[in-house]
Amino acid sequence: MDAKAKSLRARGYNVINFGVGEPDLYTPNNVKKETIEAVRKNFTKYTNVMGTIELREAIAKKLKRDNRLDYTASEIIVSNGAKHSLYNAMLATINPGDEVIIPNPYWVTYPYQVKLCGGKPVFTKTDEKFIPIVDDICNKITKKTKLIVINTPNNPTGAVYPEKILRELANIAMDNKLIIISDEIYEKMTYEGRHRSIASISNEAKDCTITINGLSKSHSMTGYRIGYAAGSENLANAMARIQSHTTSSISSITQYAAIEALRDNRGIAAMRSTFKRRRDIIVKGFSKMQGISMVKPGGAFYAFPNISETAFARQRKQSKSLSDSFAEQLLEKEKVAVIPGISFGSDKHVRISYAVNDNTIKEGMERISRFLS
Ligand code: PLP
Repeated sequence: MDAKAKSLRARGYNVINFGVGEPDLYTPNNVKKETIEAVRKNFTKYTNVMGTIELREAIAKKLKRDNRLDYTASEIIVSNGAKHSLYNAMLATINPGDEVIIPNPYWVTYPYQVKLCGGKPVFTKTDEKFIPIVDDICNKITKKTKLIVINTPNNPTGAVYPEKILRELANIAMDNKLIIISDEIYEKMTYEGRHRSIASISNEAKDCTITINGLSKSHSMTGYRIGYAAGSENLANAMARIQSHTTSSISSITQYAAIEALRDNRGIAAMRSTFKRRRDIIVKGFSKMQGISMVKPGGAFYAFPNISETAFARQRKQSKSLSDSFAEQLLEKEKVAVIPGISFGSDKHVRISYAVNDNTIKEGMERISRFLS
């Protein structure tokens, strides 16, 4: 959809692109300055495969400061974006035939990565607020289950898992000797309360968790390609062995700049309030639209409205995916790009990214309203 939106834009159409998965804000100036400084200082060579010791110590400090987690540098490995960290974590843990529990809706990449590792994704239900249903997870655990993948704040739903659920998930993992991969890339976009890392629930929870995070979203550094995984030293070493034969260390320049980003959190509060304001515009806009229902997203920069009760849903041809045809028609008629929910496991929804400015959001909401009326 993003590519289609861009191609329409190139042909001169005024397209509103709610499809993007990256912040529209610039990388902070102090981080850009350090990026240039890295080159100036000739910090342009291979580094330790796991990342420089300075960077891993800065990550350990951040995990302590922001997440109340005690990790040493030897338990942390830096990779080319959180996506790469996730893949390393899966490659290090999944054997062919292993089952991986993924609450639905889910970020598109998880099932593909599981399959690339020879594993089998097992989708479990979430409730009306997109919080995992713990009983359903318990029912779907078999002898082959190896991992549970969780993501809070969540892409695509914006759900933030309550601490109670995190505790229950940690207990399930401990009781069944499973590993939790906890993707916390949207941590800094939590609008009510604070983000809670599942590994901070208890020492036992930490022992069975691989925490994934990065700077793509928190510092608008998507193009720098930096993510990291924190887990036991054994797992970090396993991931390092994989990485040493695939991509080696990440860019030295990125690593140098990342230390500054981790050190200086000053821009985060302003970024969070910008996204919160935009979230509120979206929530208000959809509340006025006939047939649309939406759970107020507590985090990330996505809204996931339910379109299954709209006039469009009632009138469409049954043969095609609802969310696909909704997204196609909306782009064709009103030049608004949204992502069909079917790619995230729910055909009743579409995903709206509000990583665009307020006026664009308002204009987009007007167009969607017109499309629905
Ligand atoms: N995890 C989730 C849930 C995401 O939405 C994304 C990016 O969209 C990533 C991980 C990947 O982040 P990165 O760009 O650091 O690889």
